[in-house]
Amino acid sequence: RQEVYRELRKKPSLTKDGVPVDLLMNAGLAVDLPQLTESGAAGIGLFRTELQFMVASTFPRAEAQERLYRDVLDAARGKPVTFRTIDIGGDKVLPYFKGAIQEENPALGWRAIRLTLDRPGLLRTQIRALLKACGGRELKLMLPMVTELSEIAQAREIIDREVRHLSRFAHHLPTSLKLGAMLEVPSLLFQLDELMKAVDFVSVGSNDLFQFIMAVDRGNTQLADRFDSLSTPFLRVLKTIADAGARNNTPVTLCGELAGKPISAMALIGLGFRSISMSPASIGPVKAMLTELPLQELKDFFKDNLMAPSQGTPMRALLQAFADDR
Ligand code: PEP
Ligand code: MG
Repeated sequence: RQEVYRELRKKPSLTKDGVPVDLLMNAGLAVDLPQLTESGAAGIGLFRTELQFMVASTFPRAEAQERLYRDVLDAARGKPVTFRTIDIGGDKVLPYFKGAIQEENPALGWRAIRLTLDRPGLLRTQIRALLKACGGRELKLMLPMVTELSEIAQAREIIDREVRHLSRFAHHLPTSLKLGAMLEVPSLLFQLDELMKAVDFVSVGSNDLFQFIMAVDRGNTQLADRFDSLSTPFLRVLKTIADAGARNNTPVTLCGELAGKPISAMALIGLGFRSISMSPASIGPVKAMLTELPLQELKDFFKDNLMAPSQGTPMRALLQAFADDR
């Protein structure tokens, strides 16, 4: 199989009927970088910057942050990289962060963009490091756990301030700066058009989005198999997001675990996603599925089945049958 996947790397990333789909990889540390060539990923769709913070024993200094970001871009050799601002809090605790608080519901608590907007020093340092590391190149930046559009506006103010600061000191700035939001909190589903207009791109964090839509703790093994991420309601949510992206001309990608399983990656592509990001080991299996996928038939399948009243057969079984038949 490894041999088959290696061969597939040379093939273009297209469905059987010729529709291009970007297969990107998730990463977070320098050790992940060789995977970029080994997996054949088209780029890094999610760089989890908090991992550098989690493996450290104190807050990484600005220089160390900048050095890592520069190494990532150098390793990517022109392939696109999307950096996510630190997503700490919740289940990602930093033992040395003295400001951390005890919370009854950490997943719903003081985490990600909520925390960094309250501690803007952290965000400013990181953004400055990213701007410097991306000098002369493109910077794609995304914000985790956005709940309200005002959070994007606040982050943008901080970014603009750092850009002004660096240009005053004649620093080499990024050639372009694209700001995106992660769609992980259901509140955004009810303001999709406004969201799409407020950002340059959207990335669905399906791990958190599924957790909040289904009210099921993503780490609870007791419930791990209880609800299906390929069930009709969740697929309808994903379709609504893909449609809103298309309607507003805003690129939409998905970077949760869902992207890495061939059957769910197939569903995502059928729903309209043209860019998905996964662990590097999944690129081969997903690409093997992609090159065999008759996309138009799958779109027709969804047209007939997604909005229709359920006939009792679970959507996952229908999708599996679709895949098996082909
Ligand atoms: C997600 O929630 O789907 C996601 C990609 O972010 P993380 O898994 O780091 O929370
Ligand atoms: Mg998340």
